[in-house]
Amino acid sequence: MILDLSGVLSEQHTPVDDTVSCSMEQFTVGDGVYPVLSKSDVHITVEYVKDGKLKVNGTCELVLEIPCDRCLKAVPVKFDLDFEREVVGRTSEADSDKADELDENNYIDGYHLDVDGLLYNEILVGWPMKVLCSESCKGICNVCGQNLNEGACSCEDTRLDPRMSVIRDVFKNFKEV
Ligand SMILES: [Zn+2]
Ligand SMILES: [Zn+2]
Repeated sequence: MILDLSGVLSEQHTPVDDTVSCSMEQFTVGDGVYPVLSKSDVHITVEYVKDGKLKVNGTCELVLEIPCDRCLKAVPVKFDLDFEREVVGRTSEADSDKADELDENNYIDGYHLDVDGLLYNEILVGWPMKVLCSESCKGICNVCGQNLNEGACSCEDTRLDPRMSVIRDVFKNFKEV
């Protein structure tokens, strides 16, 4: 979705107050592709500050499907975006020193604001450090790949502390006697 900024960048500096649909179907970062499970409309306001600078406010709720860090099960993760950014509207007219002080604005192209590009940046900023299907997720066996939340696998022995295996051997010998 592209927002027209010609009104707010004109002599009148007519503010933008608009609700637009979010067309993002998936979120791609590096090798990762995360489906967008649900999304609200985007409420966006743009006000003129000065010297070609614009203040952009936006809200949007998205739910992305991200794999659990431990077991890779798909986890719905909610992003409740509510942001304010100051950007340069007409990059060609603003000097580069000023542009450096401001947020990265690769979603502004002359008189157009790419709403999905703006949201992309906000999702990246809000990306969780850790995604778990549950705090008690047991992960997957690193030998056979079994999801340990769904049951134990038969390679349990290899994951035991080596000191434990000594005790177990002692136990085994004791039983054999
Ligand atoms: Zn998990
Ligand atoms: Zn296993």
